Amino acid sequence: MPNVYYDKDADLDLLKDKTVGIIGYGSQGHCHALNLKDNGQNVMVGLHSTSRSRDKAKEAGLAVGDVDEVTRESDLVMVLIPDHVQPGVYREQIEPNLKPDSTLMFAHGFSIHYKQIVPPANVNVSMVAPKAPGHRMREMFVDGIGVPALLAIDQDATGTAKETTLAYAKGIGCTGAGVLECSFKDETETDLFGEQTALCGGITSLIKTAFETLVEAGYPPELAYFECLHEMKLIVDLIYQGGFKYMRYSVSDTAEYGDYSRGPGVIDEHVRDNMRRTLKDIQDGTFAREWMAENDEGRPRFNVMREDATEHQIEEVGRSLRRMMPWMNPVE
Ligand code: NAD
Ligand code: MG
Repeated sequence: MPNVYYDKDADLDLLKDKTVGIIGYGSQGHCHALNLKDNGQNVMVGLHSTSRSRDKAKEAGLAVGDVDEVTRESDLVMVLIPDHVQPGVYREQIEPNLKPDSTLMFAHGFSIHYKQIVPPANVNVSMVAPKAPGHRMREMFVDGIGVPALLAIDQDATGTAKETTLAYAKGIGCTGAGVLECSFKDETETDLFGEQTALCGGITSLIKTAFETLVEAGYPPELAYFECLHEMKLIVDLIYQGGFKYMRYSVSDTAEYGDYSRGPGVIDEHVRDNMRRTLKDIQDGTFAREWMAENDEGRPRFNVMREDATEHQIEEVGRSLRRMMPWMNPVE
């Protein structure tokens, strides 16, 4: 079992006379900045001079500046801009302005683990990676609930990197739920693997393939949508709350028998081999190199895949069905 830290293990006073610079005001950025501010910390938000987020951050009562200026002022610098943008902004605006003995932080290990960013030896390098989307995390903080996070220390220049990072984790509300210690390598590789094979890539491919199989066999797409997508959430909620056993307790015995006897034949050994190959691409850097090159070339493949995905039948059917269910608060 890795080390797990809670509120009692972290001391917010360590940040008392410090300035925390939050670079970026997107999903994670707005949440970290506002949670820290609500916890009484001195926060500055660093943004591009033409960023549309400037007004939003100012309206929320936050001090806003250019990235270089905020870096110069800050004792902790949390980098919350998209991973593929980080190396350029770091090189030009952060690195030349980092205070010696300051703490350079990330919410995901990509840039450090794949050496897109190589910080100087005189700063701490650490990570607090919350295990929730930023907007959800902010709502939960307002409701007094923390979200779990991973913590990692890559470089300890001051001998206090861990205490400082734990104080930050407490400031954004994560020690309320539990902060697990790991390495940059393990966070980065498991995060990429999870989003590719189970969470984003895995679940959408599973839903889409099941939907297409029913539609191809002549069943109404609306039925296929409810069966393969809408109900997925209800099933996952049960698993989330009480594990597989609780979900299986809640469904019929017929469903449970079908689960045991047919599921492993669908997600079979060749899927496991595919997952192993996907993991290898992550571990040997193939995926990271491909993604950085894709961005350098202006995202030709990414844009085509994004466009194709929005045109899939399941998205059209889903849009009209969700309009009939306003109670579920559909988003378009
Ligand atoms: P995002 O795409 O929501 O936000 C990006 C923000 O960065 C923009 O709103 C903008 O304010 C700013 N930005 C973009 N380009 C910039 C530039 N050139 N100069 C200055 N600022 C610029 O990003 P995100 O999803 O919050 O991800 C930030 C980091 O957090 C990433 O490392 C990501 O892996 C990690 N992370 C994200 C989530 C999540 O909930 N989305 C969860 C855990 C970890
Ligand atoms: Mg993730």
